[in-house]
Amino acid sequence: MRASSLYAPTLRNTPAEAEIVSHQLMYRAGLIRKVAGGMYTFLPLGWRVIRKIEQIIREEMDAAGGQEVMMPILQPAELWEESGRWAAYGDEMMRMKDRHGRNFCLGPTHEEMITDLVRDEVRSYKQLPLLLYQIQDKFRDERRPRFGLMRSREFIMKDLYSFDKDVEGMNASYQKMYDAYTRIYNRMGLAFRPVEADNGAIGGGHSHEFTVLADAGESNIAYCPHCDYAASDEKAELAPISAPAEDALPLEKVATPGTNTIESLCDFLKIPAEKTIKAVAYQTDADELVLVFLLGDHEVNEVKVINQIAGALELRMADEAAIRAAGGCPGFMGPIGIKNGTRILVDASVMELHNAVTGANEQDVHYKNVNPARDFDAAAITVTDLRMVREGDPCPHCGTPLKMTRGIEAGQVFTLGTKYSAAIGATFLDEQGKEQPLYMGCYGIGVGRTMAAAIEQNNDAQGIVWPRAIAPYEVVVVAVNAKKDDQLAYAEAIYEECQAAHIDTLLDDRKERAGVKFKDCDLIGYPVRITIGPKAVEAGDIEVKVRKTGEVYHFTREDYLAKVR
Ligand code: ATP
Ligand code: MG
Ligand code: MG
Ligand code: MG
Repeated sequence: MRASSLYAPTLRNTPAEAEIVSHQLMYRAGLIRKVAGGMYTFLPLGWRVIRKIEQIIREEMDAAGGQEVMMPILQPAELWEESGRWAAYGDEMMRMKDRHGRNFCLGPTHEEMITDLVRDEVRSYKQLPLLLYQIQDKFRDERRPRFGLMRSREFIMKDLYSFDKDVEGMNASYQKMYDAYTRIYNRMGLAFRPVEADNGAIGGGHSHEFTVLADAGESNIAYCPHCDYAASDEKAELAPISAPAEDALPLEKVATPGTNTIESLCDFLKIPAEKTIKAVAYQTDADELVLVFLLGDHEVNEVKVINQIAGALELRMADEAAIRAAGGCPGFMGPIGIKNGTRILVDASVMELHNAVTGANEQDVHYKNVNPARDFDAAAITVTDLRMVREGDPCPHCGTPLKMTRGIEAGQVFTLGTKYSAAIGATFLDEQGKEQPLYMGCYGIGVGRTMAAAIEQNNDAQGIVWPRAIAPYEVVVVAVNAKKDDQLAYAEAIYEECQAAHIDTLLDDRKERAGVKFKDCDLIGYPVRITIGPKAVEAGDIEVKVRKTGEVYHFTREDYLAKVR
């Protein structure tokens, strides 16, 4: 490719709306352009990067036994009604009607559709395991699309789904994908960390997020410098609270309104209005309301609290009869703690600011200054700290103080069990001829987000520093003065040689000043620059500059290729 005909408009200035460096550089280097909030067009250079990332993913998926398919983006509502997610998915799902009034959505993910695909045609255990994947546009109407490709609304995802005959098979498929993901990120030349992740709404089984380490990341990662424990802070477990806090105030019974509302409890707790308070209410059944107060900037904490409360409530529901039989109140919960007879969840970050209160949603059963380890039977309960993990908290595996780092969730792997196959009726006949639901797993990689993450991790004041495996071109040959025929001809010859050696090469033959071209090369971030000026023409001196280190080498026509390769 010749730069003189390449459509790669570069900008010297940063667009105001681009807050993080990957977004800024993708704009400036002419990789993407915005269409609307969270929607982007890839320009030729940006698309080359996407294609290279996709190719690495494709090769590793195929090597792991994956078979590529392509499903429609538009999905009929009926499938989602079968799984129950048409109602459950919420506003991130972009919904629409066709001319006959039938409901559709733009696929935010494809579990339903792929399960539907196999339900009639996978009949026997002999057809398993089956691993199907696609690389395709997803659409999620994100509440706050931002950071360019990092959180967009339309984005490219590789999604693979595994089908197995039993839990062992499912776990083996999971391990295959875990290993394939490890190879993918290694091949892309990115520093990453697989971290134990909360599998949130999907429920059950295990999950890892593959995070690319970068300060701009939205994930906080706790990792152990001693053993291999690493988990997102939504997931990282804190050691149970076993000792009462030393400065705990005495337990005090207080009168509260019989019906707790966010307002009445806020007022009761005297939570200062100027604090950023987010009160999250969960209606658990007809007459119970759980309230959780979050202080400060707790966007992530909210997710963790929601997930943990969901878990606690399931537990409580299951134990309800036993708790009632023992004379307990199954709805024993308060604004900060939940007591369910077996477990108390406490947001200690709130406790530090306010004395915890627990109580049923009834009059005169509230206690102030609750100190769970002191006030409840330690044998009957476990107290889980709901605050986020912090640097220095003990590793749950080996006790070593944890360290924290930031990362970008670029991919995630899950086991799904039989959640979708059971709902959609995807069964097979096992060795005994018995009908069984398929055991599934799902495995996503955000292709655009991976590209953004690669830039977040690899850039400097001049621009992007691409890892070679995903660079738009590996080598750029710059004719210093392309108006001079001899320089241009020499540069063209070098370009041809590189191409013949199967090196992905761009010839910068633009009749621009050398300074402009060098700036663009650095901004776009080609890993290797070969500079062809008068010295090359006159003395066969070929200058090779390595983008990452800035090192400059001089070679002869005979030996430069070995270095450039
Ligand atoms: P997040 O927590 O950032 O919202 P997610 O957990 O909802 O992501 P998954 O459902 O696990 O995302 O999807 C698999 C992958 O798709 C993610 O790991 C990420 O790389 C990518 N992805 C998800 N949402 C977006 C988005 N809005 N823009 C770009 N990529 C995305
Ligand atoms: Mg999301
Ligand atoms: Mg996530
Ligand atoms: Mg995820």
